[in-house]
Amino acid sequence: MRIGVIGCAGRMGRELLCEVQRSEKCELSAAVDVKESHSIGQDANKFVGLPQCGVIISDNVEEAFKASDAIIDFTSPNVTQHHLELSQENGTNLVLGTTGHTEKGLADIEIAAKKVTIVKAMNFSIGVNLLFGLAKQVSEILNEDYDIEIMEMHHRNKVDVPSGTAIALGEAAAKGRGKALEEIADRGRDGITGARKRGNIGFSSLRGGEVIGDHSVIYASDSEIIELVHKAGDRGIFSKGAVHASLWTEGQKPGLYNMLDVLGLI
Ligand code: NAD
Repeated sequence: MRIGVIGCAGRMGRELLCEVQRSEKCELSAAVDVKESHSIGQDANKFVGLPQCGVIISDNVEEAFKASDAIIDFTSPNVTQHHLELSQENGTNLVLGTTGHTEKGLADIEIAAKKVTIVKAMNFSIGVNLLFGLAKQVSEILNEDYDIEIMEMHHRNKVDVPSGTAIALGEAAAKGRGKALEEIADRGRDGITGARKRGNIGFSSLRGGEVIGDHSVIYASDSEIIELVHKAGDRGIFSKGAVHASLWTEGQKPGLYNMLDVLGLI
């Protein structure tokens, strides 16, 4: 399978180049980043310290879609629309790791998925996907005497708050309570907020250092606290999942899938 990586010079992109190279089931078809990137013109493998592969990093995203069976995109939400168009024009499957989409951006992804196969996951790690299932299950069992709080910490350069994974954990917990997250989410507390509203799901975000991604779902009652915790130790957990998802797209019907579909957990 021919897999192209967009955003290849980024933190995730570099991991993805290594992971595509490691897999025997695929070959790198294209590696793309923005024209200002110092990576442009370099051999993609040499860029990440591997033996030369002959794929030169370029800013030509159109050619990348043409040359690939699947594209892995970990870039920025403001370019997703263009990538969705290219995906449909070329029949290229899309694995979307980018987070921070607006409501409109998410709706555009759903529309495009009527024609092409898209895997979109807020988090491609197996552990976090297990946590989604656990958060739903625990929220079904524990009633509103248990306040649900979601806490996340990421590196200082992350641009979206709260993290996509925190939102997805909130959605899972809200689902367990039979509610839509929008009805009960408590985001961005500051100042004299008044007491916590019973049944709400609160979010707190910390930023600092090089933290790859820590997430906790906290259930706090008058007399006990239960915490579900995941800490990412290595970005390889996301890149392995994303390459696995790309291979999985081959032969799948058009549609919008997530990592639970890929892992067969639902
Ligand atoms: P980063 O800033 O290190 O890398 C992003 C790269 O994309 C940069 O090299 C940038 O130049 C490039 N880029 C931006 N616009 C582009 C365009 N139009 N064409 C080509 N390249 C472009 O960021 P990162 O930490 O690698 O994260 C990237 C995205 O992935 C973020 O949205 C982040 O939240 C998300 N992420 C998702 C998961 C997951 O499992 N779903 C895991 C980690 C990060």
